[in-house]
Amino acid sequence: MVNPGEQKRFSILVVDDETSNIDVLSHVLKEKYKLFVAKNGEGAIKIARDNQPDLILLDVIMPGMDGFEVLTQLRKSDVTASIPVIFITGQDSKENEIKGLNLGAVDYITKPFHNIIVDARVRTHMKIVEQMRIIERMSIMDELTDLPNRRYFNDQLVREWGRAIRETSSITLLIIDVDKFKVYNDTYGHPQGDALLQAISGVFKNALKRPADFVARWGGEEFIMLMPHTDLDGALEVAERVRSGVENLVIPCTDGTLTGTTVSIGINCERPIISLPVAGFVSRADKALYAAKDAGRNRVCVYKEGQLY
Ligand code: GH3
Ligand code: MG
Ligand code: MG
Repeated sequence: MVNPGEQKRFSILVVDDETSNIDVLSHVLKEKYKLFVAKNGEGAIKIARDNQPDLILLDVIMPGMDGFEVLTQLRKSDVTASIPVIFITGQDSKENEIKGLNLGAVDYITKPFHNIIVDARVRTHMKIVEQMRIIERMSIMDELTDLPNRRYFNDQLVREWGRAIRETSSITLLIIDVDKFKVYNDTYGHPQGDALLQAISGVFKNALKRPADFVARWGGEEFIMLMPHTDLDGALEVAERVRSGVENLVIPCTDGTLTGTTVSIGINCERPIISLPVAGFVSRADKALYAAKDAGRNRVCVYKEGQLY
C-alpha cells in the first residue's frame, strides 16, 4: 500500500557477487539514484524488504542463492512482490532470458553491458515506476483537500476493524459534517466553498496526534476520522479539538471579507468482540452525526448502546 503524501527519491538495489560489476553500475547510476548494494541473494532479499527500492538490478549467477531464486522469493512477499527487477547477467542464452522474463523480470541485460544502454533502460523503467506512483496516489487521494479519499479510507477501515476484533481493542470513528455549507456556497460562491474545505482539512490534520490515526474526505463536505486503539475519552478530546479548531478558524475571502464556519461531529467508539460487519460501525457514527445536527449543530454527539448523548 502506498503511503499517501509520501514523496521519495528513486532508489535502486544493485545485486552482484563481483565487486567490479557493482563498481561499474554504481558509477553509471549513483548521480541520479540512491543506491543499495548486495553481494548475495540473502542480502538482497533483506535489503529489499527493509528498504523497498524502486528497482532491482539482479545478477543471475551468484554463490548460494542465484538470481532466479531471489526473484522467486521476492515475489512471495507482499512488501517486495511488485518491485521491478532487471536481470543483468553474463548468462546470454535465450533459455535463461526467457526464464528470467517468465519469472516476472521487466528486462534482461547481458554482460558485457554498455553504460549508456543500462542508463537508458533504467530510466525507462523508472519512468514507469514514477507513473505508477502518480496513478496510485491519484487513486487514494482527494485532489481538493490533499487528504486520503473514501477508497483509501475504506481499505484502512476494513483492516483496522479486523485488527480491533482480533485484539478486542477500542476503535473510534468520527464523522464530521460542515454546518449549513449550502448557505456558505450560496453566499460566497463555490470556489470560496472549496477554500473553506481546504482550510478545515488543515484543522483536521492538526487535531490528530498519533501515527495510526487518520482523516479522509468521505465525500462532499463530510469527513471521517479513524482512531484505532482509542477509547471514548480520547475521542471526545480529539472531537472537541476539531470542533473548536474549526469554530475559531478565520477563512479570508479574496475580497478581504473574513468568514468562518462550524462542524457537527458524530462519534462511535466500539470494542468489537465478534465478527460484526463494519458497515454498522459507520452507520452508528452517522446516527450520532444526525443527532448533533438535530440538537442544533456545532456540537459533538456520541452513539452509545442504542442511545445517543
Ligand atoms: P447541514 O448543516 O445540515 O449539513 O447543511 P448543509 O448545507 O451543509 O448540507 P447539504 O447536504 O444540504 O449541502 C451540502 C453542500 O455541500 C451542497 C454541495 O453543493 C456542497 N458541496 C459538496 N461538495 C463540495 C465541494 O467540493 N466544493 C464546494 N464548494 N461545495 C461542495
Ligand atoms: Mg453539511
Ligand atoms: Mg453533508
